[in-house]
Amino acid sequence: KKFIYTAPFMEEMIDTATNLYRLGWDERNGGNISYLLQEDEIKAYLDITNMKRVVEVNFDASELAGRYFIVTGSGKYFKNIKEHPEINLGIIRITEEGNQYEILWGFENGGVATSELPTHLMNHIQRLKVDQNHRVIMHCHATNLIAMTFTHSLIEEDMTKTLWEMCTECIVVFPEGIGVIPWIVPGTTEIGEATADKMKDVRLVLWPHHGIFGAGTTMDETFGLIETAEKAAQVYTTVCAQGGKKQTITDHQLMELATAFQVVPREGVLFR
Ligand code: 13P
Ligand code: ZN
Repeated sequence: KKFIYTAPFMEEMIDTATNLYRLGWDERNGGNISYLLQEDEIKAYLDITNMKRVVEVNFDASELAGRYFIVTGSGKYFKNIKEHPEINLGIIRITEEGNQYEILWGFENGGVATSELPTHLMNHIQRLKVDQNHRVIMHCHATNLIAMTFTHSLIEEDMTKTLWEMCTECIVVFPEGIGVIPWIVPGTTEIGEATADKMKDVRLVLWPHHGIFGAGTTMDETFGLIETAEKAAQVYTTVCAQGGKKQTITDHQLMELATAFQVVPREGVLFR
């Protein structure tokens, strides 16, 4: 077998977690990532018949039976992933019944997958229904997006419009807009269901006073999506600190952008 630390998916996972930490979006154990892996991808690095432990899943994940994920550990610090991936990351497989996962690699010292696993798995189920190339779910505590949930309207159309206005690229990167759920206790199946329900139509879901969830087909794309929304939120913060907007990108200009880049903007956001 090849050395697992050289696997492209491992390098992507470590690099992304390290970047999220560097940007200040994953203090302490904040944030979590899960990355859907193909069996062929891991076989070269891992004996997939050698299972270390089994952990219960408290909802029906049978739609993901037999699927593999590399996922961050619960209570683990993104800061430490680079030094000790084998403690802070794990490769898991969902059992046939969908009520457990098997640990094939990692989570040494008795660790388990993120406490947000319900939301991650429910989001994977939902995104796979609308995008067969879907692979990544990412959660982080992006500072300015969280801050906006205290000062800005939480109506999705309002939040979407402000983010689109703050950077010209935004409408191109997330034309479907951003979803916003009510405040719910994290780690629960309830917050998972609310988030996955939004993921039918959007790849970004904001958790008020907590953080952001992103979905995508690659690690870079998912990171880039969150990064773009957070940049817009940062510009918003600066604009407010400078005394507020004096001019902006108009709805007509946003429409021009959508036309030029061949994206369909979410309905109900422009020309209200
Ligand atoms: P975990 O350490 O269990 O992944 O939780 C971190 C977090 O951000 C919860 O929302
Ligand atoms: Zn969190």
